[in-house]
Amino acid sequence: MQATQETEGRRTEMSEVREADVLIAGQGAAAYAAGLYSARYQVDTVIAAEQFGGETAIGGVIENYPGTGDIDGFELMMKFKEQVDKLEVPTLNSNVASVSKDGDRFKVELEDGTIVNTLAVILAVGRERRKLGLPREEEWMGKGVSYCSTCDAPLYRNKSAAAVVGGGSAAVEGAILLAKYAKTVYLLYRGDKLWRPEPILLKVLEQTSNVKVLLETEVAELLGSDMAGLTGVRITKPYEGSDELTLDGLFIEAGADPRVEIPEQLGLDLNPNTNEVRVDRMQRTNVPGIYAAGDLTDGTDLKQTITAAAQGAIAALSAYNFVMEHSSMQGEEPDAVTASAD
Ligand SMILES: Cc1cc2nc3c(=O)[nH]c(=O)nc-3n(C[C@H](O)[C@H](O)[C@H](O)COP(=O)(O)OP(=O)(O)OC[C@H]3O[C@@H](n4cnc5c(N)ncnc54)[C@H](O)[C@@H]3O)c2cc1C
Repeated sequence: MQATQETEGRRTEMSEVREADVLIAGQGAAAYAAGLYSARYQVDTVIAAEQFGGETAIGGVIENYPGTGDIDGFELMMKFKEQVDKLEVPTLNSNVASVSKDGDRFKVELEDGTIVNTLAVILAVGRERRKLGLPREEEWMGKGVSYCSTCDAPLYRNKSAAAVVGGGSAAVEGAILLAKYAKTVYLLYRGDKLWRPEPILLKVLEQTSNVKVLLETEVAELLGSDMAGLTGVRITKPYEGSDELTLDGLFIEAGADPRVEIPEQLGLDLNPNTNEVRVDRMQRTNVPGIYAAGDLTDGTDLKQTITAAAQGAIAALSAYNFVMEHSSMQGEEPDAVTASAD
């Protein structure tokens, strides 16, 4: 949104400037949980992100979020959002472009030009899944193409065949898990040996007779139709005389990259092994006033909606405490909200 101002007889465009106590970057599970807690602590909260719902919203059916039963991910995220909207937390539909220190506050610039001056920031911007870059890949996400075997493997109970693309621990783990459900699982990897998966996983893989490991093999084309979604793949190296595999599902486990542009602007510590934002048990980063939650962080290896939401809630408590400390330093009376880390 743009505001205009009369300056010496000329109208000049200027960005909208807003004040907040806490700005939350993201519109996924971590962000909305943070928004819910933050609003209930009665701090002035703003959420900013262009796209609603994060990965949960595009994950298809979610079967492991407690209390909801099987639920479409988009619908689950709508429930998150509705709960936050009820508390009148504004959502600005623009991504955060930059965050910089400005005196004792942070200046957050959104891509649409809006500026938010805030005391604390919660980063909940998630990760970018590595894709194969093939036609129809995004279109068939949730229609046979998945990026999360931990999440979707049970949907393949008694199915004939599924394939996992990748050669690291996540791919091997995914293939082993899928083998409990699908009759045949192909593990497709472009290298001539798997890429340093954990030794214990290799041992289990060797003992799992329904996983066929196809090395030096890439996916050349996704096969299927608009109605059916993915029905198979064409591979670069024929297997048993054919370059086509008929599949019920394809799991792309080629890794995910935490979105670290903003963390890098702020000089946040990153975990050297995973490149995730380093957080402590209260979701604090190394910069006072900046908190991070969800898949962006190294808070847990279990990257799921429930853990992202839990971390968002904890980050909100830390941000609230920071805002209260700041207010008491300024001689303002803190709100009577009890917050405890216990
Ligand atoms: C296909 C698939 C299926 C899954 N299935 C399940 C499942 O069944 N059960 C389960 O528990 N988990 C599942 N997951 C994992 C789960 O979705 C994630 O762990 C969870 O979404 C992480 O939440 P998050 O809020 O940390 O990040 P995300 O959900 O990724 O949200 C990040 C948000 O940040 C926004 N953003 C990005 N850049 C910016 C920026 N510059 N400024 C502001 N906002 C920005 C994004 O638009 C998004 O709104 C699945 C994941 C995938 C990919």
